[in-house]
Amino acid sequence: MPIDSNPWDLGAELESIRAKGLHRRLRRIDGPEDPEVVVDGRRALLFCSNNYLGLANDPEVVAAAREAALRYGASSGSSRLISGTLALHTALEERIAAWKGTERALVFSSGYHANLGVIGALVGRGDLVLSDELNHASLIDGCRLSRAEVRVYPHRDLDALARELAAARARRVLIVTDSVFSMDGDRAPLREICDLAERHGAAVMVDEAHGTGLLGPRGSGLVEEAGVRGRVLVQMGTLSKALGSFGAYVAGDAALIELLVNRARTFIFTTGLPPAAVGAAHAAIDIVEREPARRERLWRNARALREAIVSAGIEMPALDSPILPVLLGDANRTMTVCERLLERGVFAQGIRPPTVPTGTSRLRVTVMATHDDEQIARAGRAFAEVLQETR
Ligand code: PMP
Repeated sequence: MPIDSNPWDLGAELESIRAKGLHRRLRRIDGPEDPEVVVDGRRALLFCSNNYLGLANDPEVVAAAREAALRYGASSGSSRLISGTLALHTALEERIAAWKGTERALVFSSGYHANLGVIGALVGRGDLVLSDELNHASLIDGCRLSRAEVRVYPHRDLDALARELAAARARRVLIVTDSVFSMDGDRAPLREICDLAERHGAAVMVDEAHGTGLLGPRGSGLVEEAGVRGRVLVQMGTLSKALGSFGAYVAGDAALIELLVNRARTFIFTTGLPPAAVGAAHAAIDIVEREPARRERLWRNARALREAIVSAGIEMPALDSPILPVLLGDANRTMTVCERLLERGVFAQGIRPPTVPTGTSRLRVTVMATHDDEQIARAGRAFAEVLQETR
């Protein structure tokens, strides 16, 4: 670095981010996460929200949030181990355990907190984490913070995972994977991962952020759908996506939960989830179990939009989730396509490194159960036109 360069020249740092086409800015949405929103003052169809089932603004969910706030106040007032464990928290934890089919569950303040806390509580120096290369940033950061050795295996590569397991000499070996991968929408081969883990005495942690509420007969996630309940040590998931609220959960054996209460620093040293978020999540789980029609509608919408994009000559992976990645590669091109789409009234945010690997920038298109046929058709036309124009 030249002697006269100012290490605190933040403007220069921003300039270098811009030069790489990686500058990000916040877009403002006026109103709830509806199928149609106002983005930075312009009306657009929303195709990048994780409000997959429309529960974030469902009247029953909002009423439950309101009721919880009226009865318990706006804050839980303290960390969970001091005075912040409200009857609402324990009721939600029991509800989640019953839904997931585990002995117990524990609620965290966010998915990010949960992943940091759980990995750090379970492994440390002398242990090994095997992590899929496309795992979410919160899992990656959890691995880093834990001080365990981390080996990243190629995406969904069972042979590579088997080789790592065979070579492992650590005290504890933890395999960590997204269930539905957040930026690609494909699914982890959970059954095969459990087979390998059992063969080698390893444990499995699954992040169901994008499986919760969507997969399995009761909507509890990919662990349910793949039939591996009881074979996964840690089932983590968020309350903030299909469940339309905020926060996260970990479901598992009583011993796991008790250990997390004692060891997970992101659980211990932070304020309990606010009542409104807890009430909303509880109501959302009731709706998910009661109304499989919402999931059916979501799949129908996802199929229809995928077909519209594919029939315009754009390649897409098989449909595994409501996350439809439109791979564009270059970061600048991705943002050009994103802006053009917005001009045509469709908002699908461009995703660039470091969220995705370099050279794999994309639109991460997500569908909601609340989109109607006309909105799906309109979006399909806009994607086809803009993608053809910008080829
Ligand atoms: N895991 C995955 C796979 C995610 O996609 C996300 C959210 N983007 C998280 C964890 C973090 O969850 P939260 O938003 O509740 O912090």
